This record gives sequence, C-alpha cells and structure tokens, in this order.
Amino acid sequence: MLAVNLGGAVIAPIRAGCRMSGANRAGVAGIDLLSYEQAGIAVRADLAAAHRRAWQRLAAPGTWLDAERRLAIAAETRAARDCRHCAECRAALSPYGVSGSHRPATDLPGNAVEIVHRIAADPGRLTRAWFDRAMASGMTETEFVETVGVAATTIAVDVFCRAIGVAPHPLPAPQPGEPSRARPAGARSGTAWVAMLAPEDRTAEEACLDGVYVSPDPTFIRRALSLVPREAAGLFDMVDAQYLPGRLIPDVAGRYRAIDRAQMELIAGRVSAINMCFY
Ligand SMILES: [Zn+2]
Repeated sequence: MLAVNLGGAVIAPIRAGCRMSGANRAGVAGIDLLSYEQAGIAVRADLAAAHRRAWQRLAAPGTWLDAERRLAIAAETRAARDCRHCAECRAALSPYGVSGSHRPATDLPGNAVEIVHRIAADPGRLTRAWFDRAMASGMTETEFVETVGVAATTIAVDVFCRAIGVAPHPLPAPQPGEPSRARPAGARSGTAWVAMLAPEDRTAEEACLDGVYVSPDPTFIRRALSLVPREAAGLFDMVDAQYLPGRLIPDVAGRYRAIDRAQMELIAGRVSAINMCFY
C-alpha cells in the first residue's frame, strides 16, 4: 500500500535536514483557499488540511530546489498527461525504443522534463539504466529524490480531485527563499537506486522523520525519500490523511475511516496493480 503524507512535523521543523527555508512558513497566499466545499461529496476536514499543507510545501523553497523549480516540476507532472511522446511511450511494448521528445509546459531543462514526465506517465517501467542516465545527465541524487517527492505530491492531490469530480487546484505562487541544502550525514548508498537514511543512522537533524519511521525497522517505502528528510515527512503527512497514520496501520481490525480496512486494502491493492506498483 502506497500512501503519502506531510504534516505539522513538516511545517514547523527546526532541524537542518528538516528545515523549511524561506520566509513564509506560516502561510502562503492563496493556499488557504484550497477547499473541497464545492465538491459533490463531503471531504474530511483533516484530508483537506493535509492537501493545503501539501500545496504550501510545493510553494516553499525545498531542501535542494527553490520554489520556482518545485512548482515547475508540479506543472510538468500535470503536462505529462497531455504529452504525445509520453502517450506513445506508454503504448509501446518498451518505452525505451520510442523516438521523439516531450512537450514541455515549462522552461525546465530537457533532462528534468524527461525525468518528471517519465515518473508521472510510466513509473512502472523505470529501470536502473534509465536512472543511471538521469544521473549522468547532470541531475544530482538529492535533486532527483526531491523531484520524485514533488511529482508524487502533485499526482496524489490531482488524482484525488479527479476522483471526486472537481477541477484541479491552481498551483500556488512561489515563495522566496533559498533551499536549505542539508544532506543527512548518515545516508548510505547500496540498498536502492538512491541513498537512504536508516533509522539507526538518524541524528537530531532529521527529527522530522519521527512521523515517518513509526517502527524500529520501517518499511522501505518509508525510507525511500529519506535522503531528503523533509520530502519524506511531507509525503507521509499526506499518507496519514489519505490512508492511515503509521501507528494505526498494524491495527487491521480497527475502523478509522468510512470504509473498513478490508475494503481499503482491496482498493489499494487494485490501484497498485493497475499502476504496476509491485511494492
Ligand atoms: Zn512527456
């Protein structure tokens, strides 16, 4: 089950690896207007609040990328839906034999457009060779992880809007400020394509992972973005609302949502299969 979440731990972190840069930590103009009040169905207040926090994070300087870059990634994530090259790649037996180029929506460099469109349009067929080419193209490992987090955040909120029949939220305005550029000292390579931070290698600088690493041996989905702790914390702030808070997940008999856990997992399993998420 893949879920996403970001919360108070992300909005007001004080540690370096978790620090939110820029002046606008308390609020971003326009984001308070993000609402589901016009939706045809009732949306839980905590879920709407989680999406407002997600939009606030998109609009703020990140750890390695400034707000303009983060919002450009969000825009390209959306643009991949209407990109002919992405459609041709998706339809092909292998996306790696398709010639052509993406139709960008921003002035992001070509290597970043390729990375964002492929993540958005055909993530189930990304390969190690593709990732190695992405690294050779000039994107850094930390930028890549933050890019994945921004794309995943955008997709989660947009797909939710589509599912309940409302228009996608306008992207917020970028907030000024510099990225914090804090790499966890204990991050180690070798287990996945990107370095990750094991729970035993954390320091106080990465306290925002407390809400992500909810057990002594957290699953790899929870470690996946840990090279950029604030991005991981943000993703799981959304997951807590869209799925369940980590501390409740082991309680499979408990009923914390409008549908029961078996119904939740049936939907999650089906969606994961359709999306070729074999986690
Ligand atoms: Zn494309």
